[in-house]
Amino acid sequence: MRTFDDVFELGLYSNECCNQELIFDEGDMFCRCPRCQDLCHWVLEAKITRDADLEPALV
Ligand SMILES: [Zn+2]
Repeated sequence: MRTFDDVFELGLYSNECCNQELIFDEGDMFCRCPRCQDLCHWVLEAKITRDADLEPALV
């Protein structure tokens, strides 16, 4: 997935240029690299199961 693509799955993503890790939620848009501000590729590292009890902790 690349910067400005739509996120279709809630999960922890890492990018290839600076190894930054961010959580994106479904409906979000992949952002630029938070470190170098360049366009980048994001790779899903871990899926996050949505749980109503845990949801506030994800914000
Ligand atoms: Zn970067």
